[in-house]
Amino acid sequence: MLFPALENVVRLLSSLPGIGQRSALRIAFHLIRSENEKANDISEAITRLKGEVRFCSRCGSLADQDLCSICRDSRRDRSVLCVVEEPGDVYAIEKTGEFGGSYHVLMGAISPLDGIGPGDLRIKELLGRVQDEPDLKELLLATNPTLEGDATAEYIASLLKDAKLHITRISHGIPTGASIEYAEKTTLARSIKLRQDFKAQA
Ligand SMILES: [Zn+2]
Repeated sequence: MLFPALENVVRLLSSLPGIGQRSALRIAFHLIRSENEKANDISEAITRLKGEVRFCSRCGSLADQDLCSICRDSRRDRSVLCVVEEPGDVYAIEKTGEFGGSYHVLMGAISPLDGIGPGDLRIKELLGRVQDEPDLKELLLATNPTLEGDATAEYIASLLKDAKLHITRISHGIPTGASIEYAEKTTLARSIKLRQDFKAQA
């Protein structure tokens, strides 16, 4: 490319998830055509995002300080820990009003096809919490009812099979293959309420 500034933007944009070289180039051309204000707004918004939003150091959900509002809330039930794939799942479950415990966000699910193994998820942090949080009695595995989510639940349950923990899984009701984040509110509430005992197969 003749223009280092353009090359630089394309390189940075295409390093983002879901954006390939071609999309990066389209975005860059769009920005060149746009008003200066738009490009400034975008760069300011990104700076602000980095300054104001982070991941909670305990549960991995979104936070505006070291701990998120749920982890800071002393009224939450510390005996139940709900394990989910993404921060968006926390908001979906909170909206049901059916769960008063705390959360642990894995940041994904085991997916060999996408090259995501247990080491890429916040599973080590989860095991640390199981050891360090003395009030913990129940682990509710609320990963998505997909192949990947089921395999992840299975993997975690097998790691913790000797721990003195009641392990449960959200009940079926959310269709297989669906995602928690976009599940219908009453269906999700029901699947939390009717959660079932869960044991690793192996
Ligand atoms: Zn938190």
